[in-house]
Amino acid sequence: MESSRPHVVIVGAGFGGLTAAKRLAGRSVDVTLVDRRNHHLFQPLLYQVATAALSPADIAAPIRSIFADAPNVRVLLDEVVGIDPSKNRVRLARSGPLDHDWLILATGARHSYFGRDGWAQHAPGLKSIEDAIGIRRRVLLALEHAETEVDPRRRNELLTFVVIGGGPTGVEMAGAIAELARRTVSRDFRSITPRCSRVVLVEAGPRILPSFPPGLSNKAELSLRALGVDIRLNSPVSDVAQDLVLVGRDRIPARTVIWAAGVEASPAARWLGAEHDPQGRIFVERDLRVPHYDHVFAIGDTANVPGIDGRALPGIAPVAKQQGRCVADQILGRCSGPFTYRSFGNLATIGRKSAVIDWGHHQQSGFIAWLIWSFAHIWFLIGFRSRIAVGLSWIWNYLTYQRSARLITGETATEHPSTICREAA
Ligand SMILES: Cc1cc2nc3c(=O)[nH]c(=O)nc-3n(C[C@H](O)[C@H](O)[C@H](O)COP(=O)(O)OP(=O)(O)OC[C@H]3O[C@@H](n4cnc5c(N)ncnc54)[C@H](O)[C@@H]3O)c2cc1C
Repeated sequence: MESSRPHVVIVGAGFGGLTAAKRLAGRSVDVTLVDRRNHHLFQPLLYQVATAALSPADIAAPIRSIFADAPNVRVLLDEVVGIDPSKNRVRLARSGPLDHDWLILATGARHSYFGRDGWAQHAPGLKSIEDAIGIRRRVLLALEHAETEVDPRRRNELLTFVVIGGGPTGVEMAGAIAELARRTVSRDFRSITPRCSRVVLVEAGPRILPSFPPGLSNKAELSLRALGVDIRLNSPVSDVAQDLVLVGRDRIPARTVIWAAGVEASPAARWLGAEHDPQGRIFVERDLRVPHYDHVFAIGDTANVPGIDGRALPGIAPVAKQQGRCVADQILGRCSGPFTYRSFGNLATIGRKSAVIDWGHHQQSGFIAWLIWSFAHIWFLIGFRSRIAVGLSWIWNYLTYQRSARLITGETATEHPSTICREAA
């Protein structure tokens, strides 16, 4: 396809890349949007798939259908494996090289085990649909196996769920597992009672939700404890092995361990040989360009952009979306930067009726905060069908405590839960 219009290549159809592509749709540019997945994923609700409240299709939308009505946007299912910035060229794993006039890197982040990569097989992280389904299998199978386990020690191990990391994802996972394991199963199981299960949230620092004001951390801690979560603060994990977590000298035997403790950026900095912070995020200019490469932007979780307090902006969806909009506008010549982030509040939920919100000037917690959290998440979901499906699932879950997506797929009768999760991870 020969065209005189500028060719914009966007790598990554997450929150940042998708927003940029939508902004460029229907404009006088040709856009190629490359992603190694065929779907855009609403990661903030992944934990609800992992805890059987939602189905995968509720929180993912096929990228191709999002741009079905935008003839100037071409969608490519492929993986970027390298970049040659001096030739304005992107290397793809399957297709041939892709030349461009503008390049937007929005390749996000992945979980990091701080150099202890061996822990990944015992403590999967939550980043993709596959991760969520793997964790769901492990949690649900642990309950099934506990129902028939006669050895009390092994039963306790099956009914102990450890979440490592007290940030928003860890807090949301711990709250949701506590509800699933303690309340939802009380009707359906005969041998195990809700009181048999134990959810442990392990945090290395002195408080959970460290990115929130201390008052909200305390409120979240109280809400989690009310759900029965055992919170261990100032407790760095020293080892993770098969069915075991070591916190200092304390041994926590557990079949289900979930990693929510750290992330690192995609290898975009390595592709470009660009300067980056310890998490691998590219130090970009104020207008989000990669230094020395005027035609290359990096946005979202893969970029390090200082906020007004001088600290790097957090890796959250609104930052990526606003940056996506900003770079698209620069390409269209509508603005020239610098990028300024406008915060509309920081949210985290705890279980099915409590949340905390930091609005900056004031804070909110409890049920009203949970309602705001719910509406915000439904509003930002892509697709009319998803909004209705998620809304209805939540109302059903709220009224009945039932989990609509409590399915264990694949062979299940004889498999050890942690083996299955390792295969899925
Ligand atoms: C479990 C979880 C819960 C979260 N909860 C919240 C929340 O409640 N609120 C909030 O604001 N934020 C939340 N976040 C963070 C938020 O999802 C991220 O900040 C946001 O997704 C970053 O957007 P992005 O565009 O930079 O990257 P992503 O949205 O991660 O998108 C990156 C895209 O790039 C693609 N990609 C990566 N590498 C390649 C490659 N080499 N070739 C081709 N394609 C590639 C990926 O497939 C993906 O589609 C959560 C994140 C997780 C994991």
